[in-house]
Amino acid sequence: MKGLPDDNGLFMPATIPALPQSFFDNIEDYSFPDIALEVCRTLIGGVISDDKLQSIAKHAVNFPAPIVSLDEQTHILELFHGPSLAFKDFGARFMAQLMAHFNAGETRELTILVATSGDTGGAVAAGFYKTPGIRVVILYPSGKVSMLQEKQLTTLGHNITALEIDGTFDDCQALVKQAFLDKDLTNKQRLSSANSINIARLIPQSFYYLEAYKQLKDKKTPVVFSIPSGNFGNLTAGLLAMKMGLPVHQFIAATNANDVVPAYLASGEYKPRPSVRTLSNAMDVGNPSNFARMLDLYSSTWNIMKQDIKGYSYTDAETTAAVKAIYDDTGYVLDPHGAVAYLAFKAYQEANKEVQGVILETAHPAKFIDTVEETIGQTVDVPERLAILAKEKKVAIPMGIGFEGFKEWLMGF
Ligand SMILES: *Cc1c(COP(=O)(O)O)cnc(C)c1O
Repeated sequence: MKGLPDDNGLFMPATIPALPQSFFDNIEDYSFPDIALEVCRTLIGGVISDDKLQSIAKHAVNFPAPIVSLDEQTHILELFHGPSLAFKDFGARFMAQLMAHFNAGETRELTILVATSGDTGGAVAAGFYKTPGIRVVILYPSGKVSMLQEKQLTTLGHNITALEIDGTFDDCQALVKQAFLDKDLTNKQRLSSANSINIARLIPQSFYYLEAYKQLKDKKTPVVFSIPSGNFGNLTAGLLAMKMGLPVHQFIAATNANDVVPAYLASGEYKPRPSVRTLSNAMDVGNPSNFARMLDLYSSTWNIMKQDIKGYSYTDAETTAAVKAIYDDTGYVLDPHGAVAYLAFKAYQEANKEVQGVILETAHPAKFIDTVEETIGQTVDVPERLAILAKEKKVAIPMGIGFEGFKEWLMGF
């Protein structure tokens, strides 16, 4: 519920126990919610009753994560079948369930602060919509999210409030971080976060790595996960799944021009810098908030981390060329984020033939419809739950990047 510890670090599990071998041997007998339940029991069992955990897992994991194989060695893991059409629905839904559980019986409302570069806000808004006792404040960078992304943040109303910040995603993230450290605010409001910095978002993202493994017909060929990355929550969740026993041969950190982690993996030096804008805008992050967790999982040992994780980065031109080439070759439409991960896996595969890749497709291509349609020269089918948003009216509060203005607004909220 606290989001961030007082020392401005990040919460991590004190221990990460392994799942039993029998679970992996019989994984094909488990439904997706059952897999989620096993992970929950192992990590947080004892804190919440088994019955309650079962109900949380069932409600959080209520849409599938299917694999589509382009060929025997190239599998696309579709993580966009939730309400906001992006993988962040998994984290957001699970977290909403968990917070509602712990918030039951509180008299003061809980305010969730969330900075978004595009998809987080929509997922959190959908995940928490109408949750009793909880309200959500979403900060997004003005003009830097797509029209439909913006509609996902600004049209629900009820307990969801959108702040349109005249700055970048990093500015939004800085405002949220500062709010948690401000004593006036934390005395006045019960604050929590829903960004990938909250451990409750991270844990459920490990579920679908196991769900992907379950679906692989061939479990002998080494498995490589390629992850299009921004704040590196998704990749960190994969590391968590590996720690819990998932057989992973290699992780691939795939980025756009915001390549501080691939640069670190290559050089051993971490040099955060301001983000630059790209077509895969949900990965436009200059100082990934989960990097500290990655370091923690490797006891800050670069030598070992760079063996498990290979870094690759791509330009927008390479990304759109890949979207087009994959469509022309296979008929499959990837979004720009998935395309970055696809390119990275193909580059890795060039030098490592005896592997199979699971490419995380983190958003539905319709979320980036302008880029995708222009690139493939075809119309993209828009799922109904997204299409209806275009007609809804945007409601957002405009705000600058100064902390004092934000604080004043939040004090009176
Ligand atoms: C958030 C997001 C990412 C980046 O995920 P991280 O966990 O922040 O690395 C990639 N693709 C899409 C579509 C996203 O919304």
